[in-house]
Amino acid sequence: MLDFGMMIGGRKIAAAESFAVFNPATGELVGEAPNASLADLDEAVAAAQKAFPAWSQMPDASRQAACAALAGKLGEHAEDLARLLTLEQGKPMGALGSRWELGGAQAWAGFTASLSMPVKVLQDDKTGRVELYRKPLGVVGSITPWNFPVMIAIWHILPALRAGNTVVIKPSPYTPLSTLRTVELLNQILPQGVLNIVTSDDKLANIGAAMAAHEGIRKIVFTGSCATGEKVMQTAARTMKRLTLEMGGNDAGIVLPDADPATIAEGLFWGAFINNGQTCAAMKRLYVPDTLHEAICDALVAYARNVPMGNGIEDGIALGPVNNKMQHDKVSRLVAAAARDGRILLGGAPDEGLFSPVTLATDLPEDAPLIVEEQFGPALPIIRYTDVEEAIAAANASDNGLGGSVWSKDIPQAKEIALRLECGSVWINKHGAIQPNAPFGGVKKSGLGVEFGEEGLFENTDIQTIFS
Ligand code: NAD
Repeated sequence: MLDFGMMIGGRKIAAAESFAVFNPATGELVGEAPNASLADLDEAVAAAQKAFPAWSQMPDASRQAACAALAGKLGEHAEDLARLLTLEQGKPMGALGSRWELGGAQAWAGFTASLSMPVKVLQDDKTGRVELYRKPLGVVGSITPWNFPVMIAIWHILPALRAGNTVVIKPSPYTPLSTLRTVELLNQILPQGVLNIVTSDDKLANIGAAMAAHEGIRKIVFTGSCATGEKVMQTAARTMKRLTLEMGGNDAGIVLPDADPATIAEGLFWGAFINNGQTCAAMKRLYVPDTLHEAICDALVAYARNVPMGNGIEDGIALGPVNNKMQHDKVSRLVAAAARDGRILLGGAPDEGLFSPVTLATDLPEDAPLIVEEQFGPALPIIRYTDVEEAIAAANASDNGLGGSVWSKDIPQAKEIALRLECGSVWINKHGAIQPNAPFGGVKKSGLGVEFGEEGLFENTDIQTIFS
């Protein structure tokens, strides 16, 4: 078994206590993670502060080369990391699972390494020259969730480092091991203290909350639930931290009457069920016209019946268990209410352990919990509409605004509807397809700021303007 330690100041250290991490597919122990104390967090922040002057003042080309080398390191160890990720998260090795996540992590790291922040000249004439500089902030604190632990860690770490900051990361207590190993590997390239990790069960001490309050941290990049994100924002106010908050969603997909159910069924399915539905920007509500309702329900049921669910370490599995009991119980509650108030087309009651079958439900009341709450698991409500205006209004009747999608052969009409959806990203004839060069973030209560691309990189900087 691998020995997991926190990397602080370039040294691998154990904490006084540890906590167990279990495989959600089998219930078996995967490993023990260090359970950090507040003193461990202070040490990690101090190490990052100490490393900041040299890292931020390093020639940009050297920092860029180091970031590119991090991408290479992820590639070299992708298979081992993917295995560990499957064991602790539950997602399959194949399909859109762990190998795919590691591929994404490497691609994002490589792209982010290639970005740069040249000085912008705002004015240069007889009256003067005005230049805009982007300067690193100092220590960036990263707090990550359990659904895509490695990829989201890279989304946080790489732009922060590329912009010249140093980092302290804290992964979710459900999936700390793949992040511990990733950070250990990246430390083989980075100078001591540039990238530090603390892990916590959130019980011995709430390290995430302590990071949001910490005087030595200048910015928090947080990915997780809306409830926790709100707490981070409140706590961070006292130290006026910069924030990037990527929170929950309740994405709507709207199928227009000209769409062909047989053609779009596969895209609809994976738009909703990627990572077993445990995806921030997965389709969580599907609006379909009365005229296509039956055909779409039939096509989705037929597709879903052939998607193998099981222990993701085995070959041929496309969907695993729900990652943890808290989430499994939430999905079960929403599905039970849907069975009571509507019609279950496929799935329904939970299986053994943390497995929850792919569930398709329809004929639900407007205020069904499966429609109004974020399920973050393998259950999708299919909702009929008569007039597309109803579907647009219902899609927007949510506090969340992460993503949305429109499905039609008529691309100009789909784009018109896309522009009326209140969300940060809209996809046409697909859902959730993110890429490293396109800013991604939520509007309304889904978050603050964006990740990816130049805009995401800039969130790791302060602006300084020089007038001469
Ligand atoms: P969560 O909010 O429970 O936990 C996220 C992280 O916050 C964990 O590391 C946790 O330990 C930490 N934390 C707990 N209490 C804290 C506190 N008081 N202050 C600071 N940090 C604290 O979320 P989760 O269950 O791990 O993830 C699922 C949620 O994340 C879903 O709502 C999903 O939509 C969202 N998510 C959003 C995105 C996005 O990009 N918008 C991506 C993935 C997941």
